[in-house]
Amino acid sequence: MVTIRDVEVILTAPAGSNLVVVKVHTSEPGLYGLGCATFTQRYLAVRAAVLEHLKPLVLGRDVDRIEDLWHTMMVNGYWRNGPVLNNAIAGLDIALWDIKGKRAGMPLYDLLGGRCRPAAAVYRHADGQDVKQVEDRVRAFAESGVGHIRVQMSGYGGAAIAPAVPEAVPPAAHATALYDPRRYTRSALAVLEHIRGVFGDRLEIIHDVHERLTPTLAVEFARECEKLRLFYLEDALAPEDLEWFARLRQVCTTPLAMGELFNHPREWTPLITGQQIDYLRMHLTQMGGLTPARKVTAMAELHGIRTAWHGPGDVSPVGHALNVHLDLASPNFGIQEFCGFPPAIYEAFPGAPEQRGGLLYVSDRPGLGVDLDEKQAARYPCNPGVVTWTQCRWPDGSPARP
Ligand code: MG
Repeated sequence: MVTIRDVEVILTAPAGSNLVVVKVHTSEPGLYGLGCATFTQRYLAVRAAVLEHLKPLVLGRDVDRIEDLWHTMMVNGYWRNGPVLNNAIAGLDIALWDIKGKRAGMPLYDLLGGRCRPAAAVYRHADGQDVKQVEDRVRAFAESGVGHIRVQMSGYGGAAIAPAVPEAVPPAAHATALYDPRRYTRSALAVLEHIRGVFGDRLEIIHDVHERLTPTLAVEFARECEKLRLFYLEDALAPEDLEWFARLRQVCTTPLAMGELFNHPREWTPLITGQQIDYLRMHLTQMGGLTPARKVTAMAELHGIRTAWHGPGDVSPVGHALNVHLDLASPNFGIQEFCGFPPAIYEAFPGAPEQRGGLLYVSDRPGLGVDLDEKQAARYPCNPGVVTWTQCRWPDGSPARP
């Protein structure tokens, strides 16, 4: 029996975002696995959860019993779920899948049933301060072969939208984005119409509301987007407003994507069984790793829902590799979000996924196919301090969802 001999947590930020990687060492010399546990805004809490609580629980256990260990880790603290615990569990869970792939001599996609496609189609983010800047960025991606592009203006519609009453807004240090829902919907529609007009139907367009609208305004906005034939509209509603998806569905054909904030089965299950969305977008570590993700993927397939896993800069290359392995093995894969990797990422994470044209490829080596060069990773320490980008405000100065 091969057992868990040690568990390490490596913190690194080669591309600026704080990343959390779990390394599980086994009783077999030289055999280890890597997992992503990145909750970038609370990375030290995740490290403590792994090292102080989960590591003592799993030491000496059989590396092959992933399902058993996942459930053991989830209930061991009695209270379950939550982003810190789910990410910590995911780090170990993914590392164990990596180990299983290495032991089998198979890339992870083969363990999951084998590839349905050679690579995963990606969507990239085109953002700008004005319509022209957005158009230029969309064109650059389109010319490089990317067929799916997320179109935004001013981040999530905050920075360039001046509040109606600036004197009501708290000091600038505490307000990184000022956000007016009505102005946002008008400016978003204008840029989306412009891009559709310029590029016609040769481009698939995505837009992310980032849960910044009231439910009624979200319904209005999704209806106005109908004529733009979006690939999907993302996070039109907040997790707190999930019941509104049923109403949205009844009045509008705009495809809907949701899930990056989810960390409990009660959030995704009703949306799947009710067929209320078109794309599932969970952050695979935030939902607890591959063990729950592969079940939810199969459940979605049976309900005609496709996947579009969360793939921003605050997922480690280990997590991105997991996304792609699951994409390749899932018949109901839809699209993969990707932000591109700078050279520093490839130095610290040899074997990280590579984008060519509009497709993302993973290594065919056994397991996830990504390694970690700890010397290189140590050159990029994490950035401590208070998170600022989440400190958004409504026009009257009150706190808003980021
Ligand atoms: Mg999003």
